Amino acid sequence: MLTKLNNILQIQFQKDIDNCTNEELYIALLMLVKALSKNRPLTQTKRKLYYISAEFLIGKLLSNNLINLGIYDEINSLLQEHGKDLSIIEEIEPEPSLGNGGLGRLAACFLDSIATLNLSGDGIGLNYHLGLFKQKFINHLQKEEANPWLQKDNWLNDTNIGFDIQFKDFTVHSHLYDIDVIGYGQGLNKLHLFDLDTIDENIVKEGISFDLTDIKKNLTLFLYPDDSTKEGQLLRIYQQYFMISNAAQLILMEEKAKGHDLKDLHQHVCIQINDTHPSMIIPELIYRLLKEGIHLKEAVHIVTNTCAYTNHTILAEALEKWPMDYLRQVVPHLIPIIEILDTVAFTRSEEEDVQIIDKENRVHMANMDIHFGYSINGVASLHTDILKNSELNAFYKLYPQKFNNKTNGITFRRWLLHCNHELSQYIQSLIGNKFLQDATKLKELLQYINDENVLSTLLKIKAHNKQKLADYIQKTMQISINPNSIFDIQIKRLHEYKRQQMNLLYIINLLLKIRQGYRPKTPITFIFGAKAAPAYVIAKDIIHAILCLQDIIAKDSIVNKYIQVVMIENYNVSQAEKLIPACDISEQISLASKEASGTGNMKMMLNGAITLGTEDGANVEIHQLVGDDNIYIFGESSDNVINHYTKQDYNVKDYYENDTEIENTLKFLISKEMLSIGNAENLQRLYNELSNKDWFMTLLDLKSYIQAKDKAFHDYLNRQNWAKMSLTNIANAGYFSSDRTIAEYNNDIWKLDK
Ligand SMILES: *Cc1c(COP(=O)(O)O)cnc(C)c1O
Repeated sequence: MLTKLNNILQIQFQKDIDNCTNEELYIALLMLVKALSKNRPLTQTKRKLYYISAEFLIGKLLSNNLINLGIYDEINSLLQEHGKDLSIIEEIEPEPSLGNGGLGRLAACFLDSIATLNLSGDGIGLNYHLGLFKQKFINHLQKEEANPWLQKDNWLNDTNIGFDIQFKDFTVHSHLYDIDVIGYGQGLNKLHLFDLDTIDENIVKEGISFDLTDIKKNLTLFLYPDDSTKEGQLLRIYQQYFMISNAAQLILMEEKAKGHDLKDLHQHVCIQINDTHPSMIIPELIYRLLKEGIHLKEAVHIVTNTCAYTNHTILAEALEKWPMDYLRQVVPHLIPIIEILDTVAFTRSEEEDVQIIDKENRVHMANMDIHFGYSINGVASLHTDILKNSELNAFYKLYPQKFNNKTNGITFRRWLLHCNHELSQYIQSLIGNKFLQDATKLKELLQYINDENVLSTLLKIKAHNKQKLADYIQKTMQISINPNSIFDIQIKRLHEYKRQQMNLLYIINLLLKIRQGYRPKTPITFIFGAKAAPAYVIAKDIIHAILCLQDIIAKDSIVNKYIQVVMIENYNVSQAEKLIPACDISEQISLASKEASGTGNMKMMLNGAITLGTEDGANVEIHQLVGDDNIYIFGESSDNVINHYTKQDYNVKDYYENDTEIENTLKFLISKEMLSIGNAENLQRLYNELSNKDWFMTLLDLKSYIQAKDKAFHDYLNRQNWAKMSLTNIANAGYFSSDRTIAEYNNDIWKLDK
């Protein structure tokens, strides 16, 4: 390996490993990985999957690829012998932030598992030049900056593949780049990212604003441009059509190249539609099959049996509904097909809930997927039940056999082996390495539940990881945190349903108690990491309030002995990899029924954190796996929450008008102290929202949240018992391997090897 590496360094930089820079070494390692993956045969199965997604939040790839190629340890020690540090070289890689959060990260975990299970399945998406914005905190406010990731040397492999993509007023020619998806030990697939050569990064003005109408220059410029305006929505339709028309043409080209008859498309191909962004693939494929001379009825049949849809949300505002007028402006050739599909759907049911085109002439993308796909799945068992029984009940009655659950998972290569070497090495020393192929083998750890040596080692590893995180925060943010405090961590996108504001209110409540003389037994560090969508006003107000509170507490010399708040800037995959191994308490406090699954909860459980959560999403399954004693569950059930929404009987005033403690906690948001640091406009708006409307029912659960959280902090003092809880969580996390999830997709939906 040393010879190979030195050869690359020689050719590229006329240097060898002893006198090259870390930057040069990074590029040499990237080239080495690319060369090694070329030697692997592409995975072949009878059927081929295409996983289409507007987001692939792949994160940095170097270490993961080294792990999956099985050469991480070799490279690591080789570099050490020459005075180099792989963990420093890793930092040089820019993170490709080609996704927003959970949904995009899921797609990336899935690609890893699909390759690892040696199933033939490629990802298809867009090559955004600028990923999700880079978050900066200025004057306690989120500011967005452009986030370029494409350097001269990167993971993309240029192909000479491109297709004509026809919009109403003009045609563009696409350019395909591929990233190799290297499975763990075996398997090699592709992530196909389509791009345009005419993209112009110079049209970005201050922050992340740019001319939304100059499609040839902006089409793949940004992930999810602001769609609060008509121009923004049109651009998203352009992006989506560009993605799926490329996908359709690539799939049909590959099928023809294999000599397959397109009439048998559904025998050879399946397409997983990840959320509704790729839904136009359905009318587009029908359009293209018609052009191939296949009759309408047969084309509809073929496409229906090729496409499967994954639903990720029950939030009504997150389900895409495109006005027919907008579609007509961008892709008029799809309009007659969508109208035909709408008519067919109407013959199956006249119920309003299941129509494709609604009374306001908007196309319900999810409805089209369900009528004209063969499978619809939710992403955790509670979520799928809610889809069946309430949200999509009318569809469930029509097509019960199409509905199925696929509880999300995470790849253990990234979220254990890579991010927590020490823990994964230790686990291997206890139970061997079989769990790397079959994650359920982690259960064997339970034999050590009373082994004091093992328990104290687990605590020691956690302490090391907390120290490492403290060092990182010191270095990057110049904030010093106490590594001996409890690390209470909430890291995820900022959304009212995820209820960062409830965590905020807890901390305010605790601050007030400390000022009245209460003394926590162990200091606590509350860590947040979250980006808010640029146009999501209240979410940005919540960030503002957290940052103001962070300052107030830091400056209060009595309170700061006991608690500290740190909001990490620019939360992304690389930061997640540092935060998760250091987590003691994993905050999963969404309003029950609103979080489809969550995957952050799984990552933290796997790394030995204890969940503090509502009975929501996959928390329900975590609870079932670890039992009542190894998790802190609080809050109203999803049934009760759904009932409140149905009856519209939640009145937030009932929860503070006769409760001065809660009222004072709320009022602190607009106290003189907060206003002296923050902006009246932001704080008052947040206060008004929470005290008048509170759509996501923060105050409904605040009391039981305070109780459960206080109990967790109290229990933390019993270190031995805490270690047992931690061990129990790690041991039961095997179910959440994305290898299990993908095996289920394959058995129930894709059937790639049959
Ligand atoms: C896992 C992950 C998420 C998803 O977190 P949830 O808590 O499930 O919402 C979001 N962002 C990043 C960077 C992640 O790694």
